[in-house]
Amino acid sequence: MDELSIRVESVRDTPGRFLLETSQAWWERVRKIFQVPSAPASDPFRVDMEGYRLGERLLFRGDLAGCVELSCSRCVESYPHRFHERLELLLEPVRDPSVVPDGGIELDAQDLELGRYAGDELNFEPVVLEILALMWPMQPLCREDCAGLCQICGQNLNRERCACRPEPVDRPFAGLAKLLGSRRG
Ligand SMILES: [Zn+2]
Ligand SMILES: [Zn+2]
Repeated sequence: MDELSIRVESVRDTPGRFLLETSQAWWERVRKIFQVPSAPASDPFRVDMEGYRLGERLLFRGDLAGCVELSCSRCVESYPHRFHERLELLLEPVRDPSVVPDGGIELDAQDLELGRYAGDELNFEPVVLEILALMWPMQPLCREDCAGLCQICGQNLNRERCACRPEPVDRPFAGLAKLLGSRRG
């Protein structure tokens, strides 16, 4: 059975805890999707949730947590990026039992908290991947106020200031300032 799978029969009427954990091999496969060059996941991804059944429907609630080494988009240093996201999922049985969704779970295209299931197993991989895809930072930052690199000498300005005085990029009144300066001088 896959590491992100649980058996349907293990979901009872009373809430039970389900703890799933990804392996390094899983991350090796998945990191390519998110174009993380080579860095290993610092921590495995963990799904910690409570699940129970309401008649034929299955309800899961919990969170997804993990940590990945990413490269900061400003200073290019690698840093541990932590994920901690809510997970909620309501699964209904598929109406047509001959259509078994791949891995037992088929997510609703519109609402990620809804899905359908069939078969004996539920593989939560598509759920984990959808959450990661939504939460993956477009521009990873080692910290909110990362000062980045000096555009002239390349010094990492989080560590040390440099002596360069970068020209302001946008100078709509530069000509005017020069004019005023020359008059004053
Ligand atoms: Zn940075
Ligand atoms: Zn510099």
